[in-house]
Amino acid sequence: MELRSPIRLYWDITPLPCPLPDYERICSELSDSRALTLHITDLGTGLSAETLDVVARLSRSPLFLFLTASHAALAEALPLKHSGVKKVYADIRAPEELADFGSAGINGVSFRTSRSNFLMIPDIIAGCIDNGIAELQLPMERLVSGDDPLCLSVGEREALAGKIAAVRFAGKLTVTANDPFLWRVVHPGTPFPDGVCQAGNTMLAIAPNGDVYPCPAMPAILGNLQVTAYRDIVASRIKKELRAGILSRPAVCADCFAADDCRGGCRGRGLFAQGTLDASDPGCGISTGAPSEGMPDTLPL
Ligand code: SF4
Repeated sequence: MELRSPIRLYWDITPLPCPLPDYERICSELSDSRALTLHITDLGTGLSAETLDVVARLSRSPLFLFLTASHAALAEALPLKHSGVKKVYADIRAPEELADFGSAGINGVSFRTSRSNFLMIPDIIAGCIDNGIAELQLPMERLVSGDDPLCLSVGEREALAGKIAAVRFAGKLTVTANDPFLWRVVHPGTPFPDGVCQAGNTMLAIAPNGDVYPCPAMPAILGNLQVTAYRDIVASRIKKELRAGILSRPAVCADCFAADDCRGGCRGRGLFAQGTLDASDPGCGISTGAPSEGMPDTLPL
């Protein structure tokens, strides 16, 4: 179903741009949006004055606020749970950091997965359980900010799935994976909750300079909040055209047995890799090569 207005917003406050956007105006527009949640990310070594300003402005808004902060900034982030932030997540880079969080009062941790660190996921999951951490977020890559797309082969995903299954985290830890292929690795047999790519439909992402994207992983600028009102970006022709492109399946996926479920995977990665929405997700590992692995007969992990 297509929504008239997104319900999930992501706002990366840092790295701080120059010039700074008009936080007062943006907060006012977000407060009046029909969004339900706003995920704020500030990964500086201390919380920026701008993040504190945004939280203060939105603390009485209808938005459900989440904040992801660096490990070093937790002492500043956690008190915000008394002033409007519903959940605080610690951004972590390695399993060893988890020992610090047992009684810290965080709601969970966030682990930005890449090709260089994906093998840590089983130890991160085990560490969360050992330290009484309730939630693990595996957030979307920030392709709009220079992250590399996470592209694992089918074999790598199967090996990772086996190691994660061995940890037996069900009922002990909630793991959220926003990447459709990573979701299947973590939750094999459970359909990806979002179904078709939700970029620009249920979600929008705001970059530090006010640029608005359909998703943190989709490098297609819909507008900038410095010059265009939020409601006008939501109702824009460019956003409607982008959604139409997402809803039409990439031609390369036409004969894929998994297409009804997968629908082209993460369309932001396809756009990033080939510059067109008619490209499949390079994280698929089927449409993009790995010929020695052939075409499996079950939905690729
Ligand atoms: S080819 Fe890959 S991306 Fe396309 S539908 Fe099949 S599994 Fe998904």
